Amino acid sequence: MTALHGPGVLVVDRGELVSTHPATGAEVGRFPVLDADGLTGRVDRARTAATWWAGLGFTGRRRLLLRWRSLLANRIDELAGLVHAEGGKPIADAVVEIASAIEHVDWAARNARRVLGPRRVRSRLIVAEFAARLEYQPYGVVGVIGPWNYPVLTPVGSIAYALAAGNAVVLKPSEYTPAVGQWLADSFAEVVPEQPVLQVVHGLGDVGAMLCRAGVGKVAFTGSTATARKVMAACAESLTPVLLEAGGKDAMIVDEDADLDAAAEAAVWGALTNAGQTCIGIERVYAVEGIYNDFVAKVVTKAQKLTVGSEPDAHLGPITMPAQLDVIRRHIDDALARGGRAVLGGADAVQPPYVRPTILVDVPEDALAVREETFGPTLTISRVATADAAVTRANAVPYGLGGSVFGKRRAVELAGRLRSGMVAVNSVLSFVGMSTLPFGGVGDSGFGRVHGDDGLREFGRAKSMTVRRGPSLLPAMTFERTPAQVAKIAKAVKIMYGR
Ligand code: NDP
Repeated sequence: MTALHGPGVLVVDRGELVSTHPATGAEVGRFPVLDADGLTGRVDRARTAATWWAGLGFTGRRRLLLRWRSLLANRIDELAGLVHAEGGKPIADAVVEIASAIEHVDWAARNARRVLGPRRVRSRLIVAEFAARLEYQPYGVVGVIGPWNYPVLTPVGSIAYALAAGNAVVLKPSEYTPAVGQWLADSFAEVVPEQPVLQVVHGLGDVGAMLCRAGVGKVAFTGSTATARKVMAACAESLTPVLLEAGGKDAMIVDEDADLDAAAEAAVWGALTNAGQTCIGIERVYAVEGIYNDFVAKVVTKAQKLTVGSEPDAHLGPITMPAQLDVIRRHIDDALARGGRAVLGGADAVQPPYVRPTILVDVPEDALAVREETFGPTLTISRVATADAAVTRANAVPYGLGGSVFGKRRAVELAGRLRSGMVAVNSVLSFVGMSTLPFGGVGDSGFGRVHGDDGLREFGRAKSMTVRRGPSLLPAMTFERTPAQVAKIAKAVKIMYGR
């Protein structure tokens, strides 16, 4: 049945979460909201499933994860359609998002044994009588809490790596994208019907909070910085380890020797893709004096051609979460009130549930649009005297997620100096699809990493083992050592480390 609600308005009807399209209000699905007992039951079942899943070993899990990868690839159009129907995201953006998620499933499945499997580690002369072994054992159940803006890629960025490491997962998707979360769990169950290795639980923020307190082995959270603080506080009660992927305010630097057409194209896409609702979206550009005017003109020319609407092929879809419209409006108004100018869009760009592309210049550095996450299709472009000044300004916010540098001679050096977890040189956002690289932030953008070797290690605890391989020539760890042996130990230390 298709019912109409207010566009994007969240409805909990008789214990069910009602998911609706943010522009049309068309109902996408209904999902039962879990209470505390229900959640405990799910986590208990996940614990049993985790033991079974871990018992399959790396080879068994790899085989099943690669089957899930194939299923996702073959049904990419179906899933993209659902992402569009539930979040309003243009189909093209949904396809690109899902493609990246599939690559992560593939890579995590293929590399888990290499990164996490048991292996020998080199011993040291001072403890040469012992061999050293290391492996990464699963936490058991991992709770994954996800946002709505990339409802496939962000949870899968944790889920794929947690599963490959041998954990079961309980996913709490955003209340704005429960249907996509359910689809992920259902599709996994088609490949792994034996045990509920990937489950989904629905509800509002309080269900996420309950998951933090449900005795899971680890929580992987992706969402806003404000909620990240609450999640960490809740996890602190039971010393549950936590991975926090939080908000951003990413900057792009455009140096004087940059390819301006490429930089403008990347700035427009990096800022406006998914209507700016991207954690690693470009929200600020610092362009050096000599190329500033040309760069701004090119950005405006490209951005003004973009279409906005709920059609599947629009360039920019609606703002998924109605409350975000107020934030975007406030940031634009504040920038203009402080002397900024809109060279595209502006105060009347916010037309719920849409926001038209807005390019702001001459915005002071203390404006909201420069300091706080806007999460909308807006971009500030600021003039700087040098690329070094650009680095200083880019680093002057508490966030530190991604970033971008366009240039030739100094681009890599400048990129290395950005205070961020990731950076793209002569492109934007490209690190998110590079499954070999870790993904995560610093400062208010959180800590811990998904993706890559580090992302796999995030979901396993190091288990260190020493194995005696011979008698100790200089016994240190026994009460039976003699004064002469202790004197020899002291002498050996002076010879080995005293120079
Ligand atoms: P929120 O922080 O509002 O919500 C994230 C998730 O946390 C949702 O599932 C939410 O549930 C849940 N939640 C809410 N309150 C609590 C609580 N007290 N305890 C536990 N869980 C809770 O973020 P959004 O969904 O609005 O996502 C947008 C944010 O996510 C942006 O700041 C963006 O930058 C960030 N993000 C970061 C990424 C990264 O990799 N660093 C990637 C993508 C997005 P409910 O929705 O039901 O309230």
